[in-house]
Amino acid sequence: MAMATSPHTLLLKNPNLTPLKNPNFNNPITTTTTSTNTRFNLTAKPISIKCAATSQTQTPIQAPPQTQTHQDRVFNFAAGPATLPEKVLLKAQSELYNWRGSGMSVMEMSHRGKEFLSIIQKAESDLRTLLNISDDYSVLFLQGGATTQFAAIPLNLVNPNDTVDFIVTGSWSDKAFKEAQKYSKPSTIWSGKSEKYTKIPSFHDLEQNPDAKFLHICANETIHGVEYKDYPSPKNGLLVADMSSNFCSKPVDVSKFGLIYAGAQKNVGPSGVTIVIIKKDLIGNAQEITPVMLDYKIHADNNSLYNTPPCYGIYMCGLVFEDLLDQGGLVEVEKKNKKKAEILYNAIDGSNGFYRCPVEKSVRSLMNVPFTLEKSELEAEFIKEATKENMVQLKGHRSVGGMRASIYNAMPLAGVEKLVAFMKDFQARNA
Ligand code: PMP
Repeated sequence: MAMATSPHTLLLKNPNLTPLKNPNFNNPITTTTTSTNTRFNLTAKPISIKCAATSQTQTPIQAPPQTQTHQDRVFNFAAGPATLPEKVLLKAQSELYNWRGSGMSVMEMSHRGKEFLSIIQKAESDLRTLLNISDDYSVLFLQGGATTQFAAIPLNLVNPNDTVDFIVTGSWSDKAFKEAQKYSKPSTIWSGKSEKYTKIPSFHDLEQNPDAKFLHICANETIHGVEYKDYPSPKNGLLVADMSSNFCSKPVDVSKFGLIYAGAQKNVGPSGVTIVIIKKDLIGNAQEITPVMLDYKIHADNNSLYNTPPCYGIYMCGLVFEDLLDQGGLVEVEKKNKKKAEILYNAIDGSNGFYRCPVEKSVRSLMNVPFTLEKSELEAEFIKEATKENMVQLKGHRSVGGMRASIYNAMPLAGVEKLVAFMKDFQARNA
C-alpha cells in the first residue's frame, strides 16, 4: 500500500531544540528528547516542523553520525535493562518518527498490518539464522518476563503430579524451582546454595529422578555470575534452560533443548519481550487451568499475535539480531565476549587479592562479573568514583553485595578497558 504524499505541519510545543554541542544536528525526529538531555537548549518556545509522509519505498533515514551522541553516553554495566548497541539505538532513533516511509512510528502501527508483520517475521527469521534453529522448533515473542515462564513451563509441559528436576545454581533457578512447586512436583537434584552459588555441578554426579519429565537449568546466573560452559543430558532428553542473561552471546546447539527462554532486556532488546524457543512436539498439552496468555499453543498457532504483542520491543530485538548478523554471527560475538571477560577477570586475579571474584574459574560468566574488594569498606567509594568517571551501575545485587560488572554483547571493549584502567588506578591509590 503506497501512502499518499501529504505534507502537513506539526506543532511541537516544547522543547525548542537548538543543538548545543552538535551544530550539524538537524534531525527533527529526535524532538522527543526529554528535559534531561543536555544536548539541547531547552527554552520553551513553540516550533513548527514541516514533514511529509511519502511512499513506503522511501530510503530509510540515515542514522546521525555517532559522534553526535557518543560523547554523552556512559558505560552502563547494569544487569538489565542493560546497554544496547549504539548503532541500533541510532538506527531506531532515525526510524522513530516515520518508519521507512510508512508515515508512522512502529509504536503506532497495527500489529496486524503488513508493516509490522514484516518486522516480526524478519526478527524471527534473523534469530533462526543466528541460532541455527530448525523448523522443528517454534519461536515465540511473549510478554511477562522470564518470571512468567517459571509458571508457564510446568503448566505447558507437565501434569500437576509429574516430577521435574531442577539444578539450582543461583537465585534465578531457585525462583524457577519455587514457582514450579505450584504446578508440578519439582525436586532440586543439586544446589550450590551452601557454597554461595559459586559452582556448576559435575554432570556425572547428578542423580536425576528416573521419572522426571524435564531437567531445568539456568544457563547463566545473572546475580552470582556462574555460567554453564556445556550442558547436561537429561535422562529423558528434555532439557529446559533459562538463558535470559546469556542469550545470543555465543552459539548454542538448540537441538539439545526442549525449551529455551530468555527475557530480552540483557542482550537483545528492551524489557517487555520474552523469547521462547520450543520444540513443536511439546506444544498442545497445557494443563486445563493454564491461562490463555500462558498457553504456548495459542501463541504458536497465532504466530505470537494472539493479542497485541510488545511491538516496539520486538522491533528493537529485530534491529539487534540484524546487528549481530552484521557482526558475523554468534561465533564472532562470542570471541569479543571472551576477550572482554578475560581482560576483566585477569585484572581481578592479578590484583594480589585487592579484588576478588568468588566464582570457580571454570564456570565464570562471560556476561556478569561479580567481584568484591578485600577492604570492603572501600566499595562505596569505588562505585562513587567509577560513576564520576561515567561508569555506572557497578553495584552488586542487593542479595550478594560487592560489585558486579555486566558486560553483555553491547558493552564495547573500550568500556571494559576503561573499567580495568580505573580498577588499577583505584588499587594504586588505596592498596
Ligand atoms: N532469569 C534470569 C537469569 C534473570 O537474570 C532474570 C532477570 N534479571 C529473570 C529470570 C527474570 O526476568 P524478568 O524480570 O524479565 O521476569
